[in-house]
Amino acid sequence: MVDLNEGSDQIDLSLRVEVSGKSRITADYLIVCAGLMADRMARMMGIDIDFQIVPFRGEYYQLPAHLNGLVKHLIYPVPDPRLPFLGVHLTRMIDGSITVGPNAVQGWKREGYGKINVSLRDGWELLRFPGFWRLLGKNFATGLREWKNSLHKRGYLALVNKYCPTVELQHLQSYPAGIRAQAVLVDGSLVQDFLFARSRRSLHVCNAPSPAATSAFPIGGYIVDQVVDAQLSLKE
Ligand SMILES: Cc1cc2nc3c(=O)[nH]c(=O)nc-3n(C[C@H](O)[C@H](O)[C@H](O)COP(=O)(O)OP(=O)(O)OC[C@H]3O[C@@H](n4cnc5c(N)ncnc54)[C@H](O)[C@@H]3O)c2cc1C
Repeated sequence: MVDLNEGSDQIDLSLRVEVSGKSRITADYLIVCAGLMADRMARMMGIDIDFQIVPFRGEYYQLPAHLNGLVKHLIYPVPDPRLPFLGVHLTRMIDGSITVGPNAVQGWKREGYGKINVSLRDGWELLRFPGFWRLLGKNFATGLREWKNSLHKRGYLALVNKYCPTVELQHLQSYPAGIRAQAVLVDGSLVQDFLFARSRRSLHVCNAPSPAATSAFPIGGYIVDQVVDAQLSLKE
């Protein structure tokens, strides 16, 4: 999506959305669930926001097939209540395999799924955002530890071994990473709950922490209620 123009505050004019190289969509109301681009999309709609999306890469490993029976359910470490991350856990996937992860490594590229990725635009935006420096100040030791365990497999293993001593270094096989779109406020705090931004004609999901995928239906219901209310107020 490259261009969003809010037609007007008048009821008879609607919103025009230009989808890159494809088509133009005209609508009365727009719901934006843009994940890693949520803050940019909100700004494109002229919303004055006080947060920025900071990417956190969640790196995984997979256990070899002979360990598929190791656990029957999700096994989590005790979480750190100051952070919105669940910690490296064991997950039994629907195909019976077991993944280990994810950690939470601050990234320099929003869609940087590899180990080391830098985007000049994304990096520059982070450095210019005061909330990023406050976030660093508040969580420097934790951030450094995540980086260390990302580069040093033994450190990652030690996290798992706290609650599952059976897993050994040679069991950690590479697996694709995911990226969290974490909203950070100007005061440097990590948003732990859902965060929505609104313009007169749009609703933006700006922070949807785990388990947002699992909770997609109730969240969808909440969004629909919000949109109905907004539509009613447009008609007032
Ligand atoms: C490593 C990791 C593990 C997780 N584990 C779990 C879990 O076990 N259980 C759980 O419930 N949740 C989990 N989550 C969280 C879950 O994935 C998110 O909460 C959920 O995906 C958020 O949904 P969303 O629709 O807000 O954003 P997304 O799922 O990120 O969707 C945003 C979409 O918008 C698209 N987009 C962005 N910008 C544009 C643009 N300009 N034009 C067009 N399209 C655009 C993107 O391509 C993307 O498809 C995990 C997340 C991560 C990163």
